[in-house]
Amino acid sequence: MALTVRQFPCLSDNYGFLVRDAASGRVAAIDTPDAEAIQRELSAAGWTLDLILNTHWHPDHAGGNAALKAATGAEIVGPAEVARIAPLDRTIVAGDRVALGETSFEVIDAGGHTLGHIAYFDATDRIAFVGDSLFALGCGRMFEGDPVQFWGSLQRLAALPDETVVYCAHEYTAANARFALSLDDDPALVARTEAIFAARECGEPTVPTTIAAEKATNPFLRAPKLAHRLGVVGASDAEAFAAVRAAKDGFQG
Ligand code: ZN
Ligand code: FE
Repeated sequence: MALTVRQFPCLSDNYGFLVRDAASGRVAAIDTPDAEAIQRELSAAGWTLDLILNTHWHPDHAGGNAALKAATGAEIVGPAEVARIAPLDRTIVAGDRVALGETSFEVIDAGGHTLGHIAYFDATDRIAFVGDSLFALGCGRMFEGDPVQFWGSLQRLAALPDETVVYCAHEYTAANARFALSLDDDPALVARTEAIFAARECGEPTVPTTIAAEKATNPFLRAPKLAHRLGVVGASDAEAFAAVRAAKDGFQG
């Protein structure tokens, strides 16, 4: 493994991630939910921050940029929309690559939760950081994008290799599981949700997940198969996704 990932809970339900490239010792933070928590993790690991990689502009993802920049001098890289709340040193778009020592992250368009949301994929280690686009058994709320854009983003992520380890930015999985079970009784989903509820009872994280697990059980990726359960028939895949997204938004679980 060229990349070591250090995952830690912060704020109410976010995960912070620090990653270190073994060859160079260079360290990046994926988003900056909580500058103090990130500083504590850096000290605990004995790591020095070189780079901040933002997925989108929301304050629980970019809110710590300024404080960490001031404390560490790290270079801040992200989509243009992040400049709404903090200055960027380098603006990136889908298709770009970002190097961390010998690790190379491919930038993927994951828009829909916000318009400019991106994901970072390290093809060598098969690791993806997806922010608030894809969650374990869920996806982000569609605050800025439309169903065609969001469905396209989810399809791009689903096309990553099955074994890709997916780091999403929130521990929302138990609530996502309750919603998924309201729509779907597939045995793979039922088995997975039992493991999820058991893990959460013990306070264990359900992140990371994998592309294979999400393709098999995530109700948003399975929307075309599930939309009929919401009374939606003859819809396009994006319309099926929109129906599942709307059902989740109104779900009282
Ligand atoms: Zn967000
Ligand atoms: Fe978030």
